[in-house]
Amino acid sequence: AISPASDGVGRRRRRVLMFPIPFQGHVTPMLQLADVLRSRAGLAVTVFHAPVNAPAAAEQSAAEEDYRFVTVGAGVAGEAAALMPTGGSGSDFAGALMRLDALLRAPFDDALRQALLADDEEEAAATCLVVDSNLRGVQEVAERRGVRTLALRTGGACCLVAYMAFPELCGKGVLPPLSRDQLQLDMPLDELPPLRLRDMMFSATTTHGTMATCLERLLDSARCSSGVILNTFDDLENSDLRKIANGLSVPVYAIGPLHKISIGQESSLLTQDQSCLEWLDKQEAESVLYVSFGSLASMDSQELLETAWGLVDSEIPFLWVIRPNSVQGSEQTCLPDGFEEATRGRGMVVSWAPQQDVLKHRAVGGFWTHNGWNSTLESICDGVPMICRPQFADQMINARYVQEVWKIGFELEGKLERRMIERAVRRLLCSEEGKEMRHRAKDLKNKATTCIEKGGSSNTAIDMLVNLIMSF
Ligand code: UDP
Repeated sequence: AISPASDGVGRRRRRVLMFPIPFQGHVTPMLQLADVLRSRAGLAVTVFHAPVNAPAAAEQSAAEEDYRFVTVGAGVAGEAAALMPTGGSGSDFAGALMRLDALLRAPFDDALRQALLADDEEEAAATCLVVDSNLRGVQEVAERRGVRTLALRTGGACCLVAYMAFPELCGKGVLPPLSRDQLQLDMPLDELPPLRLRDMMFSATTTHGTMATCLERLLDSARCSSGVILNTFDDLENSDLRKIANGLSVPVYAIGPLHKISIGQESSLLTQDQSCLEWLDKQEAESVLYVSFGSLASMDSQELLETAWGLVDSEIPFLWVIRPNSVQGSEQTCLPDGFEEATRGRGMVVSWAPQQDVLKHRAVGGFWTHNGWNSTLESICDGVPMICRPQFADQMINARYVQEVWKIGFELEGKLERRMIERAVRRLLCSEEGKEMRHRAKDLKNKATTCIEKGGSSNTAIDMLVNLIMSF
């Protein structure tokens, strides 16, 4: 381990405290950030985590002095587990997150007090808490104990800008929409081009009131922090990053793509099936469609059926991730009879893939995604164009940007049906238009590579973030 305790002036080593929310798309960037801070500045890290979906690294690196993992709320593990959304897009994520935040407050206060007490005897002193911006309650606990905070936004700048506009849209009576009429939902939002009204319909089951409170707390978490950290890069979201810095009046650090900077810490909550990489080795360059909808999105059995036959009928090689329990109403995923023979070796199905390795594999030519921010960013950074099938939360916003701003993919709208899938897959992988999208995606990949090099925007932002942490 690097030891800047010997900085010549006898300063103690610094420790950063972190608290992610227990979802794959949030744990991953937080642990990647931990790794970057440790390798870049020799900071020690303590990761506080909920008693559900504990990061695997919590066990693996128990012996590592640089990393410490602390379970918060072991006594309320049952309640926390009951709060975890199970029904994919049908779940009230915003409500669940706020209840989880409330549940973890008191146990976190205990854990933090102990960590600060131990501080005196430690070789590394706690400097600040990097908190997921969905944990405003946890952040308040830290504030009360005099600990500075930084807010990690695991979504894109495009999403935060939309969230910042939410109160104004409510004030103008644009939100909530008067009806769920399709024409109205497709209406462009003049305040937030290129978004449409329906891109702001974060979930079918969360009430408008819950959403408003959730976003208010999220924005509070950013405003009350000493800085907002975003997993994105300047060349990708320059104008939205400026809007955030102006609108929130706190320093903004665009330090992504984190997965291309961080080297350590396994963060996958599920076991990745590595055999698909060998299968990819046997495929031709840019010939394969990778299909995955992340860790939470789900489909019903009819959609599974249509997807299966759409992929087969496209005659394009595919690698398809079907997560356990991701098909509503059935614990076991039932692919249709005759599916396997019909693929004639052209398709592979796994329950969880090493996604970042898949996307950088030369054989992958397209990604059919739900547009979670991590998946979107990972695709961009490896120059892979997308078919977008967003379901909830920020996914619609990300998909709109993929289609309208970066022009590196298109949305698959409406009821899933095999013919439309077949057409969409061929459009992405075989058409001139698809080729142009791939070309633009490659251009963004080059920019993502440059921004993390010496003198690049993200590299510089990391230096500034480290300086800030060192100044606390
Ligand atoms: N992922 C993975 N294997 C898979 C599918 C997804 O490792 O088979 C990873 C992916 O690389 C990404 C994360 O899971 O880092 C999903 O995050 P995202 O924000 O895209 O979506 P969420 O799961 O939060 O909806």
